[in-house]
Amino acid sequence: MTTSTETTSAPSRRRTVLVTGGNRGIGLAIARRFQAQGDAVVIMSRSGEDVEGIPAVTGDVTNSESVDAAFAKAAQIAGGPIEVVVANAGIADDGLLMRMSDASFENVVDTNLAGAFRCARAASTGMIRRKGGRIIFVSSVVGLFGSAGQTNYSASKAGLVGLARSIARELGGRGITANVVAPGFIETDMTAALPEERQAAYKATIPAGRFAQPDEVAAAVAFLASDDSAYINGAVIPVDGGLGMGH
Ligand code: NDP
Repeated sequence: MTTSTETTSAPSRRRTVLVTGGNRGIGLAIARRFQAQGDAVVIMSRSGEDVEGIPAVTGDVTNSESVDAAFAKAAQIAGGPIEVVVANAGIADDGLLMRMSDASFENVVDTNLAGAFRCARAASTGMIRRKGGRIIFVSSVVGLFGSAGQTNYSASKAGLVGLARSIARELGGRGITANVVAPGFIETDMTAALPEERQAAYKATIPAGRFAQPDEVAAAVAFLASDDSAYINGAVIPVDGGLGMGH
């Protein structure tokens, strides 16, 4: 990844990009954005079905062999080792602490945190070899803010910060950056399903007074993948309308 003094966030050349969970929701918005920029983007999903002309590979982030195979296949499709990894795949399984099962805690952490680790590890060899790469983790405002009923989810999302910062320290000298995007409420199927009065109550707590569009998260991810962000490493970029300010 070369440094640049240009003021645009548009890529100066076609990069190879892998977005996990890129088949729907925020991940699809991210994949669309890279494709619109002209990058060679591949999405990883459990079904492995292409979406809107964006090629897909089959991969389950809870399985190391599956992740490694997906990265190898994605590199073939994209035309070279993956230069930009967006670890976006995630699940939630909410419940009160006293009733949360070991399985619920472990599954969420295994997908959201260990899954992101497996993807970063799979990408690292190629990135080290070519002395450059971008790793972007999709966390959540609740990773630093906390959220009642989401101990598993919040812990997994907070863990991504330590993961990114350790990678930044370990690989920063090799032209590799690892950063975190922390979305707040995003207009997805999940938030649309909330009753209107609940949506209004949430919006009242957000300085921006609204939920975000998935593409507003994609914009932050695209910036962190661009040449303009070469000196940003180990950072947490909130995309939450000010909800988590100070955290
Ligand atoms: P969705 O539920 O719409 O999509 C989740 C994605 O993750 C799907 O593509 C899903 O694939 C994939 N996924 C889940 N488990 C696995 C697995 N084991 N292996 C591979 N892929 C998997 O989520 P959103 O678009 O709403 O969220 C995307 C990310 O943003 C998540 O990490 C979420 O925690 C985070 N986030 C979302 C917010 C929101 O308001 N929506 C707010 C803050 C953060 P499949 O189709 O195979 O199930």
